[in-house]
Amino acid sequence: MVKPNIKIDECASQIWDVIIVGAGPAGGLAAILLARKKLQVLLVDRQTFPRPKVCGCCLNGNALSTLKEVGLFHLISENQAMQLHEMRLGSRKVNYTFPLSSQVALSRERLDSTLINKAMLEGAFFLDATLAEMGQLLPSSREVILKQEDHQFLTKAKIVLAADGLGGGLLVRKNITTRLKSNNSRIGAGVTLLNPPDFYKTGTLFMISGNGGYLGLVRLEDGRLDLAAAFDPIAIKIQGGMGPLAKSLLQEMNWPLPLDIEYASWKGTPALTTKMEQVAAERLFAIGDSAGYIEPFTGEGMAWAFTGANFVAPLIAKGVAFWEPELAKQWALKYKSHIASRQGVCKTAAFLLRWPLLVKLALLGLKVFPFLSKPVVAMLDKPSKATTRI
Ligand SMILES: Cc1cc2nc3c(=O)[nH]c(=O)nc-3n(C[C@H](O)[C@H](O)[C@H](O)COP(=O)(O)OP(=O)(O)OC[C@H]3O[C@@H](n4cnc5c(N)ncnc54)[C@H](O)[C@@H]3O)c2cc1C
Repeated sequence: MVKPNIKIDECASQIWDVIIVGAGPAGGLAAILLARKKLQVLLVDRQTFPRPKVCGCCLNGNALSTLKEVGLFHLISENQAMQLHEMRLGSRKVNYTFPLSSQVALSRERLDSTLINKAMLEGAFFLDATLAEMGQLLPSSREVILKQEDHQFLTKAKIVLAADGLGGGLLVRKNITTRLKSNNSRIGAGVTLLNPPDFYKTGTLFMISGNGGYLGLVRLEDGRLDLAAAFDPIAIKIQGGMGPLAKSLLQEMNWPLPLDIEYASWKGTPALTTKMEQVAAERLFAIGDSAGYIEPFTGEGMAWAFTGANFVAPLIAKGVAFWEPELAKQWALKYKSHIASRQGVCKTAAFLLRWPLLVKLALLGLKVFPFLSKPVVAMLDKPSKATTRI
């Protein structure tokens, strides 16, 4: 349970240095880093925590190296994150096991709650169950409207950080920027299941690329099985739902079916591949999924969220002290060179993986020439240039 340390009516009485909208990995880490800079930080989320989130829950080498860089790696072991030793990728009854060395699995309930609690320890204020909306741009601040059932309060911040995720729409609703969607984007789907078959052993990430999408399965620290998928909306319709589609992918591989897979309450997401026209504006920055996202086959979303938080924090500190339009331009450039460029690589990988037959042939090739798997493993494990300080 995460206990907020401020009430909605108390938020209105001051001009905040920073209001962060969204307490996922992007907003949570940004709140920690900005509070450490002794800024007055308000972190707001429309949900209460811990909350589930459609996610594969795998933190790759890139994500972990950002946590190391900011001195938070201990949170991973303290939460009993599961070290992942291998990824078993299957397609059309063929599978290949890639060794992994720097990936862990940790439930989003634990990860996100831990970051929020740490942010409060560092001095940030956290308000849950509150929907934030953008208000007017004023000469030296931005208005943010905070809504809780029948209460509504107007507050102000020198800088607003949008970390409201894929479905947030904080900036889009006010026409501050436009979200560009890829035409044939898949949607995300996920569920966690109790008492999974022993086949899905701890430390192995199972992935299937099949007809209608792909599915990842991983054991969490508490023994539950996390299932996360990118599905073609049309395939969901044809199969009669997200559960039946997941079942059919597992059947394609002859992998055991977890109990309830078909009837569990799967959650969906909006279109996965999106891009924001602008990631910054006057006294405003966007990070994490709210700034842009690519289908998650390579599981980099949280790494990009952490990189964004880490890199935007110094610009926000400068903007709080003295706002100049150059800061928005700098963030757009840094985002492009350190995050969007990496997303391009993942987009290509996700595109190629749309052909299960191609994946099957590649896996058969790897069985003959296993050394060819090295670049794939390196891509999954290695910190990208995005974690190198600018
Ligand atoms: C199927 C699937 C599998 C994935 N697997 C992986 C994986 O294995 N590894 C990995 O690294 N990434 C993975 N990802 C991506 C990862 O989940 C996201 O990239 C990550 O959650 C982004 O973090 P964020 O903080 O930007 O957004 P989020 O985690 O989405 O957090 C946004 C928060 O903002 C809040 N919010 C939204 N609007 C408002 C508002 N107006 N007011 C107040 N609060 C608001 C929401 O309640 C939410 O808590 C996967 C994604 C999907 C869909």
